[in-house]
Amino acid sequence: MLKIRSYLFVLFAFIIFSCSKDDDGNDTENSRVDKRANQQTLGTSARDFLTADNFISIQLEIAYVQGFKPTQESIDGLVTFLKERCNKPANITIKETVVAPTDDDESLDIDEIVQIESDNRTVYNTGDELAVWVFFADNNSEKDEGNSVILGTAYRNTSCIIFEKTIREQVNNNPLLDNLSQIEGTSLHHEFGHLFGLVDLGTPMLVDHQDTTADDNGTSTPNRHCDIEGCLMYYQTVSDVFSMGSGEIAEFDELCLADLRANGGK
Ligand SMILES: [Zn+2]
Ligand SMILES: [Zn+2]
Repeated sequence: MLKIRSYLFVLFAFIIFSCSKDDDGNDTENSRVDKRANQQTLGTSARDFLTADNFISIQLEIAYVQGFKPTQESIDGLVTFLKERCNKPANITIKETVVAPTDDDESLDIDEIVQIESDNRTVYNTGDELAVWVFFADNNSEKDEGNSVILGTAYRNTSCIIFEKTIREQVNNNPLLDNLSQIEGTSLHHEFGHLFGLVDLGTPMLVDHQDTTADDNGTSTPNRHCDIEGCLMYYQTVSDVFSMGSGEIAEFDELCLADLRANGGK
């Protein structure tokens, strides 16, 4: 997938930056937060989400630009969703962070998305607590094309973005879509499905259910989605917002659930 290739460059750039920063030796111990565990490739923390082996609790950083905060129903629903799938005997806690508006004239590309996280993220793994960054953006994805819009992207092991501006535009422009929380929830849960390692990106497939239809750019590389129509991880579940008219947040199908359970999830 294009997103993954872009990210590899970003990771590489970070490693160089991180090394040179260590070399100058000017940081005090207090300012030196180890961020590396939260800057790995998508899917590598699947078991950290699903099992209690390394982490018994989760801290969610819900970051948003003023005016683009998700509904309380969506936040509560995400916590419930995490409790249903992840073995976390301790708490799932929320930290809200307000982020300065992005440049309204431009859509966001992956480099800008990573930069916003780098500038604003305050929560990183500590001890046995796993930290996650979710940013609700006041902007669209640069990958939007006509009627095909991107509602969210998971781009690192504990990072995802929800294009809240795009979601609200869809709700405002379509009288059939009157449930903001449903579209936010579906987008959020779908991106967490990728953080959980679906499909076959950190959480192995027990049986083949990976969608192999051509990607947007015409290549037929696996696109990390499920080929079961109606599944939360089915591509159209989030690419075609009109399919969300039913009022319900989509759920994992049995094949995705089986993969998650086999990799330590509930
Ligand atoms: Zn997806
Ligand atoms: Zn599925």
